[in-house]
Amino acid sequence: MTSTQLENDLQSSIRAIPDYPKPGIVFRDITTLLGNARAFRRAVDEMVQPWAGMKIDKVAGIEARGFILGGAVAHQVSAGFVPIRKKGKLPHKRVSIAYSLEYGLDEIEMHEDAVEKGDRVIVVDDLIATGGTAEGAVKLLRQLGAQVLACCFIIDLPDLGGAAKLRHLDVPVRTLISFAGH
Ligand code: AMP
Repeated sequence: MTSTQLENDLQSSIRAIPDYPKPGIVFRDITTLLGNARAFRRAVDEMVQPWAGMKIDKVAGIEARGFILGGAVAHQVSAGFVPIRKKGKLPHKRVSIAYSLEYGLDEIEMHEDAVEKGDRVIVVDDLIATGGTAEGAVKLLRQLGAQVLACCFIIDLPDLGGAAKLRHLDVPVRTLISFAGH
């Protein structure tokens, strides 16, 4: 399959919901991709393809769709899985970081013993927009001494600059398809 065919396949398996959750936003609904066995498998394989065969200790998935994709990726590369969650959901000792949203701040957390110093980690989520969430995840992982090999997403919204923001932090970014606008 050529990369254009792959992009077309993935693009057509994702549903666009205009004006959700608020006017002006086109919500990229990946539940249709997840329900399509072929598209789901292709997305999981392709997201980490450049690192396949390398030693990966952990895959960190960002709540909530990053859990579904990250769990599948972790299984695929024989790595452990680390959940990065919204504030207040994790039961053990945590590290947390605030990140900016379009309006105001939010916080993500992870267990402080979820990674060890020197662990080689890949971060996974469904979509990168402004990059605030993934940037927070990278900073938490680095704070705990992990080495972030890459951040991988199915969808990039390049107009919002998130992938560029991560590359400025010296993190390789892999995205499979992109959509213009918000
Ligand atoms: P950001 O921190 O701005 O990069 O936002 C990324 C997070 O918000 C990801 O977890 C996405 O699932 C979600 N997100 C942002 N924009 C959209 C969108 N247009 N459609 C679906 N999810 C989105």
